[in-house]
Amino acid sequence: MTILQILKYPNKNLTKKSEKVHTLNKEIINLAYSMIETMINNKGIGIAAPQVNVNKRIIVIAINEKIKPIILINPIITMKEGVTINTEGCLSFPDTFVKVKRSKIIKVLFIDLQGKKNLIFADNLLSVCIQHEINHLNGITLYDKI
Ligand SMILES: [Zn+2]
Repeated sequence: MTILQILKYPNKNLTKKSEKVHTLNKEIINLAYSMIETMINNKGIGIAAPQVNVNKRIIVIAINEKIKPIILINPIITMKEGVTINTEGCLSFPDTFVKVKRSKIIKVLFIDLQGKKNLIFADNLLSVCIQHEINHLNGITLYDKI
C-alpha cells in the first residue's frame, strides 16, 4: 500500500469520465487499499480513483474512524429520495467549501473487493459522500456545484 498523490483542480483528469472496472485483479485491489491509506492520511472521508490519477470507477469511503472503510467498485445509484443541502469539501479543492444540494437517501449497487454484487442503503453523511464521489467518476467536481 502506498500513499498516493492527490490531483488538485484544475487537473484535466478530474473532469474526465472514468471507465468501468472489468477485471478485479491484484492491481485494482492494491489501488483500492492505497486509496484508503491516502484518504486517511489526508483526513478525508472519501476519495475517488480519478483523484489519484486513475480514471476507473472505484471509490472508497470512511465517514468516521470507527467504521471500517468501504470500497465500492462500479457504483450505480438505483434509488434516490428526498433532498439535503450540506457544505462539502474535497481533497482536490483544498480550503474550499461549497453548499451542495443532493438526495437525502440513496440505494447503491456496486461490486465489492471479492467481486460480488452488493447493495448499500445510505442516508445523511454517507449518502452525501457517496454522491460526491460518484460525481468524481463522471468528471463532476465541486467546481460544477458553485
Ligand atoms: Zn471530492
